[in-house]
Amino acid sequence: MDVRIVAFARARLEFSGHAHFGRSELREVLAYVVKSGPGAGEIRKPTRHGVTKAIQRLTDWGVFSPGSWSECIVFPGMSVQNGSKAQGEKPCPGRQPGS
Ligand SMILES: [Zn+2]
Repeated sequence: MDVRIVAFARARLEFSGHAHFGRSELREVLAYVVKSGPGAGEIRKPTRHGVTKAIQRLTDWGVFSPGSWSECIVFPGMSVQNGSKAQGEKPCPGRQPGS
């Protein structure tokens, strides 16, 4: 799931270095098909907790900046060619409470 989150976030990357997603949007795009065992063939979405843990892991590894969450993933400035001073910067539509 981690690599897929990075791929979706890169695809959604804005000039600001942020990638924004709607509520539960990441869970929707991260849906997967159960390959074996009970429920084989079913399409399931990862849990909200699972997505949060994956983003935290990627943040701990330095792939995302601290404060990233399921609706706003922030890439470290050094990993993107654009930055906060880039033209077309749009304000972050929402921050996680308490960050
Ligand atoms: Zn943002």
